[in-house]
Amino acid sequence: MLTVTARDGNGRVGFFQANGKTIHVPCFMPVGTRGGVKSLSGSDLTSLGFEVMLANTYHLMLRPGAQIVKDLGGVGSFGRWPRAVLTDSGGYQVFSLKSSYSAHGVHFKSVYDGSRHELTPERACEIQLMLGSDIQMALDVCSELPSDPGTLRGAAELSVAWGDRALRFFHATSRDHGESNPLLFGIVQGGDDSDLRAWATRQTRARAFDGLAIGGLSVGEPRQVMTNMIEVVVGQLDFDPRPRYLMGVGDPVGILEAVSRGIDMFDCVLPTRLARHGTVLTDLGKVHLKARDNGSRDDPMEEGCTCEGCANCSRGYIRHLFNVGDPTALRLASIHNLAWMYRLMTRARYAIEAGSLTGLISQVKGAFEGEGRLDC
Ligand SMILES: [Zn+2]
Repeated sequence: MLTVTARDGNGRVGFFQANGKTIHVPCFMPVGTRGGVKSLSGSDLTSLGFEVMLANTYHLMLRPGAQIVKDLGGVGSFGRWPRAVLTDSGGYQVFSLKSSYSAHGVHFKSVYDGSRHELTPERACEIQLMLGSDIQMALDVCSELPSDPGTLRGAAELSVAWGDRALRFFHATSRDHGESNPLLFGIVQGGDDSDLRAWATRQTRARAFDGLAIGGLSVGEPRQVMTNMIEVVVGQLDFDPRPRYLMGVGDPVGILEAVSRGIDMFDCVLPTRLARHGTVLTDLGKVHLKARDNGSRDDPMEEGCTCEGCANCSRGYIRHLFNVGDPTALRLASIHNLAWMYRLMTRARYAIEAGSLTGLISQVKGAFEGEGRLDC
């Protein structure tokens, strides 16, 4: 359950426990797709201040395999990451492969070697337990947008049914069993259909999940559609005390808009993907490090930033590293973007405590105005 310590409108500051680890919200979770964030170590993430990292079940179950990760002590021990791990269910990747599914589960082929696998609600929980996850996600059915009403309804209804199966399996195997005591979050689907979203939220809210996630958004729909759906979901939650997680949203303005509507947790590959392409996030908007005029600049990526890259290197030097293909450039830009995201969430918390969240949103919108939406 989330302990709320401050509110500004629907925006909230608080904390909750996951398997004995404290997570303060609102928070951004860096994505360690294969157990670690590309080019960074677990200690890099710890130094940046993050309290929870997301790892992808789909990739880890295929390589190196859930059993190996389990034998090496779980994702945290495997990647030397001492804080909380949230694992997705694998569903998003599996459904993006146009996999075939039935009421029982979903069949898919490995992108690595073409081997065939099945994921069911029970198996998804079992694998996440083997991965040593602190926060598991129930397997859901992701539909594309746009989709016809029948497809959206089918996906939302099956997600609810699979949520029940996940809960039964989770409580029989994971909760209060052995040394670890992870959480299980349920996922609200429903596409861009307000009535269906409201129905799916009521169904998910009524079940004994430890947190509620909103899935199936940030898949290319206009931002207004996304914010409308967030409002529909939060409107059904009243004072529900559980953490709320908006999956796959990582653009700064989108995050703050969602925070102001009562969302607590976010994840996205965007900040580190942008960094690897030479784009860094600053309080003045995006900076394209590869731009020619950065070549002769002696100032850091962002004045006042104390990250490893800004504290030690000029823009000119990092541009040079990008130009010569030195992987150090990817690392320094990734560290900066994650440091900036961490600061953004800290600023959101302070703004909620001070009652000035609206002002922060205007400021960040101003910085990224004209940049277009930053999608994952
Ligand atoms: Zn920096």
